[in-house]
Amino acid sequence: MVKKISSPRGTADILPADVSVWQSIENQSRELFKCYNYKEIRTPYFEETGLFQRSLGQTSDVVNKQLLQLAGDKKEGYSLRPEGTASVVRSYIENGMDRKESLSKYFYLGAMFRGERPQKGRLRQFHQIGAEAIGLNAQSPFLDAEIIGLAVQLLNRFGLKDFKLKINTLGTLEDKEAFSRVLREKLDDKRVELCEECQNRFNRNIFRVLDCKNNICSQIVGQLDIGDEHLSEESRIYFEEVKGALNSASIEYFVEPKLVRGLDYYTHTVFEITGSSLGSQDALGAGGRYGGLVKQLGGPEADAIGFALGIERIILAKNQAQDKQNDPLLDAFIVTFDNCGQKMAFQIVSELRKNGLVADMSFKTASIKKQMSQANKLNARTVVIVGEDEIKNNCVVLKDMATAVQEKIDINNDNFDLLIQKFKERK
Ligand code: AMP
Repeated sequence: MVKKISSPRGTADILPADVSVWQSIENQSRELFKCYNYKEIRTPYFEETGLFQRSLGQTSDVVNKQLLQLAGDKKEGYSLRPEGTASVVRSYIENGMDRKESLSKYFYLGAMFRGERPQKGRLRQFHQIGAEAIGLNAQSPFLDAEIIGLAVQLLNRFGLKDFKLKINTLGTLEDKEAFSRVLREKLDDKRVELCEECQNRFNRNIFRVLDCKNNICSQIVGQLDIGDEHLSEESRIYFEEVKGALNSASIEYFVEPKLVRGLDYYTHTVFEITGSSLGSQDALGAGGRYGGLVKQLGGPEADAIGFALGIERIILAKNQAQDKQNDPLLDAFIVTFDNCGQKMAFQIVSELRKNGLVADMSFKTASIKKQMSQANKLNARTVVIVGEDEIKNNCVVLKDMATAVQEKIDINNDNFDLLIQKFKERK
């Protein structure tokens, strides 16, 4: 027997039947990025390991545990990219973009690699849609709102509704230091109760304790009362301005004081978008401002903000939303039994469509059973019955397909106003 070869653990084939969903997400993304004036950038799939170590931080899980390293000809070695920001910033600096434009707005679509323990929604090769705005002019609360709004609008475009935007501010690098001191003080007496990993994180990267999935850790974190005493006046004002800009663009958000991002480079605004149907791996995307990173990697004094959304999670959420809601495809399906009824049915279907309702009818006078099963297949919310008695009595019967409740509606002198009104009430 020849041994079969399987795909590597934590990777997945995207089969022809699924490719159209991917293409639609990619096309919709490109269209929207164009509206926001973001240009596509394509960086290599692997970089010097040092790039990720210096940008993401030695204490982050991504660098500590998840970098997939390649044997290279350089002493430092190479690693497959675990995320997009570090490469985009490296490219921004290397290409001297600060001398060419005051604000560079980039987007990318592509595969990322992390050596994690695979589970639903967590892969070793996954795909992200990301955006980064970098430049000498990048510190504006309106740019924070633009980036956040762009992430939200992308998800809306993909047809997702069931998600929540959480925002927070970490403040400046000094505020972040103060925040970690506050956290250490507040968690000190609980330190021994934390999971082993969090006990290790306590000094190295206390922020990670806040999003530890361990039950005991999350209970302890749940009881923490976090104020904003660690924030400087400058950071508070900036965050107020960001919230004001989000309000002015009617973007709904929730302030979550315990939201932090595990990577070293974040300062000021951070945000996360979670999908309600996704279970434990519920982050659809996340991002934030990373003030010091460009300089830290040897570049100019530029500020920056960005985000990344996970395509696999978006597709999971889309599929779940479809399963869960099984949205009615039709507002109305008209069933009828003879030619006379069909004439009336056609009038009704035309009126409903003129009024923006999704309606269809049976074009063959089949048995009621057959027509009802057709209505079912088409996932109609309501069936409009136009039978012999109804025509005689100048009325139709509406049957709600979910509850089976029936209601008679008068149609005198071909006046469909009452019927339309009923449908609009149901929408
Ligand atoms: P992060 O850089 O970890 O905040 O990731 C941004 C987004 O990418 C997350 O919100 C997820 O949607 C997605 N993502 C991150 N890691 C994975 C993974 N291992 N598998 C699938 N999606 C991921």
